[in-house]
Amino acid sequence: MQKGAISVETQNIFPIIKKFLYSDHDIFLRELISNAIDATQKLKTLANKGVIKSELGDLTIDIMVDKDAKTITIRDRGIGMTDEEVKKYLNQVAFSSAEEFVKKYKADNTIIGHFGLGFYSAFMVADQVEVFSKSYRKNAKTVRWECDGEPEYSLEYIDSKVRGTDVVLHLNDDSTEFLEDSRIADLLKKYCRFLPIPIRFGTKTETEYKGEGEEREEIKTEVDNIINNPTPTWKKSPRSLKEEDYLSFYQELYPYSQPPLFWIHLNIDYPFNLTGILYFPKLSQQLEVQKNKIQLYSNQVYVTDDVKDIVPEFLTLLHGVIDSPDIPLNVSRSYLQSDHNVKKITTYITKKVSEKLQSLFKKDREAYEKKWDEIAPIVKYGMITEDKFYAKATKFGLLKNTDGEYATIEEYKEKVKDKQTDKHEKIVMIYANQEKDQDTFIKAAKDRSYDVLVFDQIIDNHFIQHIEQKEDKLVFVRVDSDTPDNLIQTDDAIESVLTEKEEEKVKSLFEETLGKDGNSIQLKAMSENDHPVVITRPEFMRRMQDMQRLQGMGDMNMPEMHNLVINSNHPLIAGKLLKMRSQEKKADFVKYLHDLARLNQQMLKGSELTDFIERSLSIVS
Ligand code: ADP
Repeated sequence: MQKGAISVETQNIFPIIKKFLYSDHDIFLRELISNAIDATQKLKTLANKGVIKSELGDLTIDIMVDKDAKTITIRDRGIGMTDEEVKKYLNQVAFSSAEEFVKKYKADNTIIGHFGLGFYSAFMVADQVEVFSKSYRKNAKTVRWECDGEPEYSLEYIDSKVRGTDVVLHLNDDSTEFLEDSRIADLLKKYCRFLPIPIRFGTKTETEYKGEGEEREEIKTEVDNIINNPTPTWKKSPRSLKEEDYLSFYQELYPYSQPPLFWIHLNIDYPFNLTGILYFPKLSQQLEVQKNKIQLYSNQVYVTDDVKDIVPEFLTLLHGVIDSPDIPLNVSRSYLQSDHNVKKITTYITKKVSEKLQSLFKKDREAYEKKWDEIAPIVKYGMITEDKFYAKATKFGLLKNTDGEYATIEEYKEKVKDKQTDKHEKIVMIYANQEKDQDTFIKAAKDRSYDVLVFDQIIDNHFIQHIEQKEDKLVFVRVDSDTPDNLIQTDDAIESVLTEKEEEKVKSLFEETLGKDGNSIQLKAMSENDHPVVITRPEFMRRMQDMQRLQGMGDMNMPEMHNLVINSNHPLIAGKLLKMRSQEKKADFVKYLHDLARLNQQMLKGSELTDFIERSLSIVS
């Protein structure tokens, strides 16, 4: 037996490893399985090149837990190591880089991926590690290496004919949780799901039913429990895949989810290597829940589901997988953002997404429009946050009107410019955010041949403002921001049927009855067909209030500022109200008209609503 000491620097490496990596100590399994995969892939490469001519046999990797002995074994049938290789790799290379790693880790504890921890991560969970290895080389002796965490290791030769490597971890007292099958199964599922070599974790029982009725028989068989899918869909050639393949892979990634809307198969090997599939999911209202579902892999090894430095923020709403060995993993976040490859990858992904959307739009506009409401949040988010994307998205980003018709910004400008250009030469885009609640206002705008857009998504507040900034001579106003004739401001005005004196009288009647609450009361000559009293919410003020509310600022119960506009041309004002004798009746009438206007703006609630209904009932009875 040979004895030796691992270099002096590593005297106290184990306490350091444990201390710094404590929170991540479960990655030991991924590291050791990655080594087993590498060893197996190397063997296959040698066989392909004709260096190895004999049969390779079953290359399945085994993970075995022995509860009594308190060990976990990772077994591969890969290239194995000779005695010299064991000494070279497991002693020197591995342990010397540990120091470097710990230094890096101390300097910046936001390292992602945790790659390169390698073999010595075994010591995070084990007091003692044994390695049995036999190289593929002719006449190689089987080696048993053992190290108990002290710098000393021992190495001896044993009798065994099986090629490959067993790493046996004798778990320390803090790590007995890893003796639980379920714990290991979870880890395997997390890190190893798509590794390229089959991995077996014991056996499982499969149940089959044979026969009918009385004859029906339950047949149970023990089969290998292979925990991974070694050829995941994203690694296959897009040409060999059908729609069902993409849909079933989505289910594999996110069981029980609604099917995605469409997907993009990424597949590039120059100037960087990247494969993957990005799905546009069916978004629900809770956007946050659906964020950060993209998984990052490196050669099929799971790295992280935090991809926000690789994928632009707006695309973190997509689902799927990105696999690239060219994303540096053992580095800090700040480094990642400035990395050349990562920048190129980010640009590439954004470009692919806009190309896909553009082609869907061109190929089948009708089908694209059907999906629009669901993809809109992502596209709008992208248009707001990425200038380059905005420029491309003007060709496939859509606006929807209350008739369910869709148009790009350019198309829409063309459509409404004749009727909806104001005296400042600006095109005025009228929108509703609550179609049902704003029905009266929408109808009044449409009666004037205006078109009304629908903006009812959370992101629309920002989206509207962004378009205004980007596009010249264009403004948005909500359908209830002014009286119908004033939505598009022109120099034309309707004449009032009332004299100035009469108007004064009406105004003071309203002021006296309703009291002053800070909101303005004004008279305006509108069409007879408009309502006698209209409550409007001026665009600018309302937007400020919306913003404050969105940011959670200010008093949530703060009453909304609004204008009360009395239609001086309405028969109920010009005719009925002015002719009334009794002050009491006048006041009741004013209140009633006011309540109708409030009802139309969803401002009558609670006891006020009840009173209003009571009053209406007494009028008709
Ligand atoms: P890394 O895998 O990052 O190179 P490790 O510390 O994990 O670093 O391993 C060091 C070296 O030991 C590997 O590069 C490989 O040559 C060898 N090695 C580790 N595990 C195995 C194994 N299961 N089979 C064959 N060689 C192995």
